[in-house]
Amino acid sequence: LFLVYQPKVDLSSDTIVGVEALLRWRHPEFGDVSPTVFIPIAEETGIIDHLGEWVLQGACEQARQWQQSDLGNLQMAVNVSSHQLKSGNLACSVKKTLDRTGLDPQLLEFELTESMLMDNTDSIVGLLHDLKALGVSMSVDDFGPGYSSMAYLWRFPVVAIKIDSAFVADISDGSSDAVLVRAIVGLASGINLKTVAEGIENQEQLDFLRRCGCDQVQGFYLHKPMEASQLEPLLRSAKETITS
Ligand code: C2E
Ligand code: MG
Ligand code: MG
Repeated sequence: LFLVYQPKVDLSSDTIVGVEALLRWRHPEFGDVSPTVFIPIAEETGIIDHLGEWVLQGACEQARQWQQSDLGNLQMAVNVSSHQLKSGNLACSVKKTLDRTGLDPQLLEFELTESMLMDNTDSIVGLLHDLKALGVSMSVDDFGPGYSSMAYLWRFPVVAIKIDSAFVADISDGSSDAVLVRAIVGLASGINLKTVAEGIENQEQLDFLRRCGCDQVQGFYLHKPMEASQLEPLLRSAKETITS
C-alpha cells in the first residue's frame, strides 16, 4: 500500500495550492488494484478503520515534511469512508495524529462524499463540528449527482464542494451539464463555499471552468496522481504554466 498525491490548481494564481492523497495497492499478482475495488472490501471486513488511520498518518507526515521544507504550505486532502465517520472515534484519532506529526491543522482537509452527509445527519453534524474545532477543514466530494440540493450544505461546516467529474465530462457550451456546473459554482460562491472541479481532461473543460469562476481544478489534463518524489520538483517550480 502506498499513497499518491494529485495536485489541486488554483485558477486565480495558476499555482498548486494543495494535493489529494489517494491510496494505491500494488498486488504481486494482480498489479495495481483500484481503491474503488478494495475500499468497499476493506469496509465490509472492517479493516477500513486501520487503513484510514494509516492513510491519515502517512498523509499528515508527508504534509508536515513539506511544511518544514522550502515547498511552502500545501493543503493536504484525505478521503474518509462512511465507516470511519460512523465509528465514533475519528475526531480523537485526528487529534492524536496531528499531535504526533506536528502538522498545522489548517493544512489538513477531509473529503466526505455527498451521500455520507445525507446519512445519519445529526451525528455527522456533531462530528464535523468536533473536527472543525480541531482546526481542520472539510469538503464535499463528488458533489452533484445524488441529491442535487444545496440546502443541506447549510447544516455542515464545510468549506468547499468538489464538482463530480461526471458533470465536467460533458461541459461543452450549451450542454445541460454546463448549465448545471455554472449554477453550482454561482450558488456555492453565494454561500461562501469554494468550488473545486474534478476530472479535467482537456483544455475546453479548463477554459469553461475558468470562465465560470470555479476556484480550483484537478484532473489528468493538469496533473495525474503521483508519488511524493515525482511531485516535489513540480512544486519547486513556483508557477504553473496552464494557459487559457
Ligand atoms: P475521489 O476522492 O473522487 O478521487 C478522484 C478519483 O478520480 C481518483 O481515482 C483519481 O485518480 C481520479 N481522477 C483524477 N483526475 C482524473 C481525470 O482527469 N480523469 C479521470 N478519469 N479520473 C481522474 P482513484 O485514485 O482511483 O480513487 C477512486 C476513489 O477511491 C476516490 O474518489 C475515493 O473515493 C476513494 N479513495 C481513494 N483513496 C482513498 C483513501 O485513502 N481512503 C478512502 N476512504 N477512499 C479513498
Ligand atoms: Mg476525493
Ligand atoms: Mg471525487
